[in-house]
Amino acid sequence: MFLPSERRQHVTVEVLLEEKTIKERIKQLAREIENYYKDKTDTLHAICVLKGSIHFFSELVLNLNMNVNYSFVHVSSYAGTESTGRIRVKSWVDEPLQGKYVLVVEDIVDTGNTLRYILNYLRKYKPADLKVATLIEKEKYQHGIPIDFVGFKVQDVFLIGYGLDYDEKYRNLPFIGYLKNDT
Ligand code: 5GP
Ligand code: MG
Repeated sequence: MFLPSERRQHVTVEVLLEEKTIKERIKQLAREIENYYKDKTDTLHAICVLKGSIHFFSELVLNLNMNVNYSFVHVSSYAGTESTGRIRVKSWVDEPLQGKYVLVVEDIVDTGNTLRYILNYLRKYKPADLKVATLIEKEKYQHGIPIDFVGFKVQDVFLIGYGLDYDEKYRNLPFIGYLKNDT
Protein backbone atom coordinates (compact mmCIF):
# COMPACT_ATOMS: atom_id res chain seq x y z
CA MET A 1 0.00 0.00 0.00
CA PHE A 2 1.29 3.44 -0.94
CA LEU A 3 0.08 6.38 1.12
CA PRO A 4 -0.07 9.67 -0.82
CA SER A 5 1.32 11.77 2.05
CA GLU A 6 4.50 9.68 2.03
CA ARG A 7 5.02 9.78 -1.75
CA ARG A 8 7.89 12.22 -1.69
CA GLN A 9 9.76 10.23 0.93
CA HIS A 10 9.34 6.92 -0.95
CA VAL A 11 7.94 5.14 2.06
CA THR A 12 5.50 2.28 1.72
CA VAL A 13 3.31 0.65 4.31
CA GLU A 14 3.67 -3.13 4.57
CA VAL A 15 0.76 -5.03 6.08
CA LEU A 16 1.67 -7.35 8.95
CA LEU A 17 -1.75 -8.15 10.44
CA GLU A 18 -4.92 -7.83 8.37
CA GLU A 19 -8.07 -6.35 9.92
CA LYS A 20 -9.81 -9.74 9.77
CA THR A 21 -6.90 -11.46 11.55
CA ILE A 22 -6.90 -8.82 14.29
CA LYS A 23 -10.66 -9.06 14.85
CA GLU A 24 -10.64 -12.86 14.97
CA ARG A 25 -7.84 -12.87 17.52
CA ILE A 26 -9.63 -10.28 19.66
CA LYS A 27 -12.73 -12.51 19.72
CA GLN A 28 -10.58 -15.40 20.99
CA LEU A 29 -9.01 -13.14 23.63
CA ALA A 30 -12.49 -12.09 24.76
CA ARG A 31 -13.37 -15.79 25.32
CA GLU A 32 -10.12 -16.29 27.32
CA ILE A 33 -10.87 -13.22 29.41
CA GLU A 34 -14.51 -14.24 30.10
CA ASN A 35 -13.26 -17.64 31.10
CA TYR A 36 -10.78 -16.19 33.56
CA TYR A 37 -13.36 -13.96 35.28
CA LYS A 38 -16.38 -16.25 35.17
CA ASP A 39 -15.99 -17.66 38.70
CA LYS A 40 -14.63 -14.42 40.15
CA THR A 41 -16.89 -11.53 39.20
CA ASP A 42 -19.59 -10.52 36.75
CA THR A 43 -18.25 -6.97 36.47
CA LEU A 44 -14.93 -6.07 34.95
CA HIS A 45 -13.29 -2.68 35.30
CA ALA A 46 -11.39 -2.17 32.03
CA ILE A 47 -8.79 0.58 31.67
CA CYS A 48 -7.99 1.80 28.17
CA VAL A 49 -4.46 3.19 27.84
CA LEU A 50 -4.81 6.07 25.38
CA LYS A 51 -4.29 6.81 22.67
CA GLY A 52 -2.98 3.66 21.01
CA SER A 53 -5.36 1.18 22.65
CA ILE A 54 -8.56 2.88 21.51
CA HIS A 55 -9.49 0.39 18.76
CA PHE A 56 -8.30 -2.71 20.61
CA PHE A 57 -10.18 -1.63 23.74
CA SER A 58 -13.35 -0.90 21.79
CA GLU A 59 -13.32 -4.19 19.87
CA LEU A 60 -12.43 -6.19 22.99
CA VAL A 61 -15.17 -4.81 25.25
CA LEU A 62 -17.77 -5.14 22.46
CA ASN A 63 -16.93 -8.85 22.41
CA LEU A 64 -17.07 -9.38 26.19
CA ASN A 65 -20.21 -11.02 27.44
CA MET A 66 -20.12 -9.52 30.95
CA ASN A 67 -20.59 -6.11 32.59
CA VAL A 68 -17.71 -3.82 31.75
CA ASN A 69 -16.99 -0.47 33.41
CA TYR A 70 -14.70 1.83 31.41
CA SER A 71 -11.80 3.98 32.55
CA PHE A 72 -9.26 5.84 30.47
CA VAL A 73 -5.70 6.84 31.20
CA HIS A 74 -3.53 8.82 28.82
CA VAL A 75 0.15 8.07 29.09
CA SER A 76 2.93 8.63 26.58
CA SER A 77 6.63 7.92 26.25
CA TYR A 78 7.36 7.92 22.54
CA ALA A 79 8.59 10.63 20.16
CA GLY A 80 8.75 9.43 16.54
CA THR A 81 9.86 5.81 16.63
CA GLU A 82 11.94 6.07 19.82
CA SER A 83 10.89 5.59 23.42
CA THR A 84 12.00 8.67 25.33
CA GLY A 85 12.19 6.60 28.52
CA ARG A 86 10.28 9.32 30.37
CA ILE A 87 6.64 8.56 30.99
CA ARG A 88 4.19 11.44 30.89
CA VAL A 89 0.79 11.03 32.48
CA LYS A 90 -1.66 13.27 30.65
CA SER A 91 -4.80 12.02 32.37
CA TRP A 92 -5.54 9.38 34.96
CA VAL A 93 -8.39 7.26 36.42
CA ASP A 94 -10.70 9.05 38.79
CA GLU A 95 -12.97 6.11 39.67
CA PRO A 96 -12.32 4.18 42.90
CA LEU A 97 -10.68 0.85 42.06
CA GLN A 98 -10.48 -0.66 45.53
CA GLY A 99 -11.86 -4.19 45.53
CA LYS A 100 -12.50 -4.08 41.77
CA TYR A 101 -11.46 -6.60 39.11
CA VAL A 102 -9.24 -4.41 36.95
CA LEU A 103 -7.99 -5.20 33.45
CA VAL A 104 -5.44 -2.83 31.89
CA VAL A 105 -5.85 -2.81 28.11
CA GLU A 106 -2.65 -1.86 26.25
CA ASP A 107 -1.94 -1.59 22.55
CA ILE A 108 1.65 -2.78 22.61
CA VAL A 109 4.28 -3.69 25.18
CA ASP A 110 7.81 -2.96 24.05
CA THR A 111 10.34 -2.24 26.83
CA GLY A 112 7.56 -2.66 29.40
CA ASN A 113 8.41 0.69 31.03
CA THR A 114 5.00 2.23 30.43
CA LEU A 115 3.14 -0.81 31.71
CA ARG A 116 5.38 -1.16 34.77
CA TYR A 117 4.71 2.47 35.63
CA ILE A 118 0.94 2.09 35.21
CA LEU A 119 0.76 -1.14 37.23
CA ASN A 120 2.83 0.27 40.09
CA TYR A 121 0.38 3.13 40.46
CA LEU A 122 -2.77 1.04 40.05
CA ARG A 123 -1.63 -1.38 42.77
CA LYS A 124 -1.79 1.46 45.28
CA TYR A 125 -5.59 1.59 44.76
CA LYS A 126 -5.83 -1.97 46.13
CA PRO A 127 -7.92 -3.60 43.42
CA ALA A 128 -9.14 -7.15 44.17
CA ASP A 129 -7.30 -8.29 41.04
CA LEU A 130 -5.12 -6.57 38.44
CA LYS A 131 -4.56 -8.14 35.03
CA VAL A 132 -3.18 -6.99 31.69
CA ALA A 133 -4.29 -7.53 28.11
CA THR A 134 -2.17 -6.30 25.24
CA LEU A 135 -2.85 -6.60 21.54
CA ILE A 136 0.86 -6.90 20.76
CA GLU A 137 3.93 -7.91 22.69
CA LYS A 138 7.34 -7.36 21.15
CA GLU A 139 9.59 -10.36 21.57
CA LYS A 140 12.83 -8.43 21.95
CA TYR A 141 12.72 -7.53 25.64
CA GLN A 142 12.89 -9.54 28.83
CA HIS A 143 10.80 -6.97 30.67
CA GLY A 144 9.75 -9.50 33.31
CA ILE A 145 6.16 -8.24 33.58
CA PRO A 146 3.67 -11.08 33.39
CA ILE A 147 1.12 -10.26 30.69
CA ASP A 148 -2.05 -12.24 31.13
CA PHE A 149 -3.69 -11.92 27.72
CA VAL A 150 -1.55 -11.37 24.59
CA GLY A 151 -3.00 -10.97 21.10
CA PHE A 152 0.12 -11.29 18.96
CA LYS A 153 3.84 -11.60 19.61
CA VAL A 154 5.92 -9.82 17.00
CA GLN A 155 9.55 -9.18 16.13
CA ASP A 156 11.14 -5.85 16.90
CA VAL A 157 9.75 -3.59 14.21
CA PHE A 158 8.04 -0.22 14.65
CA LEU A 159 4.35 -0.82 14.01
CA ILE A 160 1.60 1.52 12.85
CA GLY A 161 -2.15 1.29 12.39
CA TYR A 162 -5.14 0.05 14.39
CA GLY A 163 -4.45 2.84 16.92
CA LEU A 164 -0.65 2.83 16.66
CA ASP A 165 0.87 6.04 15.32
CA TYR A 166 4.03 7.43 13.86
CA ASP A 167 4.07 11.04 15.08
CA GLU A 168 0.25 10.93 15.35
CA LYS A 169 -0.23 9.64 11.79
CA TYR A 170 -1.62 6.25 10.67
CA ARG A 171 -3.70 5.53 13.79
CA ASN A 172 -6.81 5.02 11.66
CA LEU A 173 -5.41 2.37 9.35
CA PRO A 174 -7.70 -0.65 9.87
CA PHE A 175 -4.73 -3.07 9.80
CA ILE A 176 -1.34 -3.23 11.55
CA GLY A 177 1.73 -2.68 9.44
CA TYR A 178 5.16 -1.12 9.32
CA LEU A 179 6.91 1.55 7.28
CA LYS A 180 9.47 0.54 4.73
CA ASN A 181 11.85 2.83 2.83
CA ASP A 182 11.97 1.84 -0.84
CA THR A 183 15.53 2.74 -1.71
P1 5GP B 1 7.17 0.56 26.27
O1 5GP B 1 7.08 1.50 27.43
O2 5GP B 1 6.72 -0.85 26.60
O3 5GP B 1 8.54 0.58 25.64
O4 5GP B 1 6.24 1.10 25.14
C1 5GP B 1 4.90 1.21 25.36
C2 5GP B 1 4.21 2.28 24.53
O5 5GP B 1 5.04 2.80 23.50
C3 5GP B 1 3.07 1.62 23.82
O6 5GP B 1 1.91 1.65 24.62
C4 5GP B 1 2.95 2.44 22.56
O7 5GP B 1 2.15 3.58 22.80
C5 5GP B 1 4.37 2.85 22.27
N1 5GP B 1 5.00 1.90 21.33
C6 5GP B 1 5.84 0.87 21.61
N2 5GP B 1 6.19 0.20 20.49
C7 5GP B 1 5.55 0.82 19.48
C8 5GP B 1 5.49 0.57 18.05
O8 5GP B 1 6.07 -0.35 17.48
N3 5GP B 1 4.70 1.42 17.34
C9 5GP B 1 4.02 2.46 17.91
N4 5GP B 1 3.30 3.23 17.10
N5 5GP B 1 4.04 2.70 19.24
C10 5GP B 1 4.80 1.89 20.00
MG1 MG C 1 0.30 2.67 24.60
